[in-house]
Amino acid sequence: MIVDLRSDTVTRPTAAMLQAMTAADVGDDVYGEDPTVNALEAEVADLFGKEAAVFTPTGSMANQIGLQLLVRPGEELLCDVKAHVVNYEMGAAAALGGITTRTWSTPGGRLDVPLIEPLINRPNPYATVTRAIAVENTHNIGGGTVQPVESLRELRALADEYGLGLHLDGARIWNAHAASGVAFEEYGRLFDTVSVCLSKGLGAPVGSLLVTDAERAQRARVIRKRLGGGMRQAGFLAAAGRYAIAHHIDRLAEDHARALHLARSLEPFGLCDASAVETNIVIVRVPGIAALAAAAAEQGVRISVLGPDWGRMLTHYDVDDAGIEHAVKVLGELAS
Ligand SMILES: *Cc1c(COP(=O)(O)O)cnc(C)c1O
Repeated sequence: MIVDLRSDTVTRPTAAMLQAMTAADVGDDVYGEDPTVNALEAEVADLFGKEAAVFTPTGSMANQIGLQLLVRPGEELLCDVKAHVVNYEMGAAAALGGITTRTWSTPGGRLDVPLIEPLINRPNPYATVTRAIAVENTHNIGGGTVQPVESLRELRALADEYGLGLHLDGARIWNAHAASGVAFEEYGRLFDTVSVCLSKGLGAPVGSLLVTDAERAQRARVIRKRLGGGMRQAGFLAAAGRYAIAHHIDRLAEDHARALHLARSLEPFGLCDASAVETNIVIVRVPGIAALAAAAAEQGVRISVLGPDWGRMLTHYDVDDAGIEHAVKVLGELAS
């Protein structure tokens, strides 16, 4: 038995999803002629109560397009020190967008709005001007933390006061919604640009979108083409995303319940803190985790190693109850 807890990106399309993909009506999306891509973009825009959405191959591309829309070269973005946009996108904000970033430190990935205001540089003759703030929800390295909607509203008020743009890295906004019950439209209302991933918990093989207003979406298509993200008969991929949105959002609560069960079962072995689990991510803290992970992998249980004494486990639709029990048995035995 293989139980792959390294990421929620490892899922493979279900039979029904593959069927939806092969049945897709397609065209050339660079010409705007792929009906399935157009339908997906319209559906996701509508879901978030925004004017438009732009389909991209990856979440990194959706994020970087969002940042480039809000911040010009030589200007500044604020985000937290563990944010995906500055740590896991190969320096793209600087390398491709010419964007300077400044970070605040984060308690468990959770947004602390008062930390941000002192970092904001207003336009003046010598300082790098701050143009936008990026937030991650759920927060990946924070351990799947859900940003409280009250904090997001406070942040919007702060951004409005200073005339700043707000970008949401919503790779796992589906999980935030499932855990908090906050409507997608509310997230759409609070942010100028929102990236969402179809290939994480939703289980599509490929695809993300940037959701925004009509004017920015037009510019987003230019930046996407510039980055090499103009795809042709992408409707086969968009069909997987449409299927995932229709069928896989409601089941995310199952992943969350399994993550909590996994954490509660391993907490007595000192591997994790179950009270920190809010969605489908469990942070593992143990000295010498690399050896533990290697030994677990030999028994079919894969976890992510992120530092010398910590790592990560994620639940997703390719992990069932039997898989969780197997992981608990293997990791529990190795840790004791
Ligand atoms: C996965 C992820 C992304 C996008 O990653 P890609 O691999 O480029 O699709 C963006 N933000 C967060 C927080 C993520 O976890």
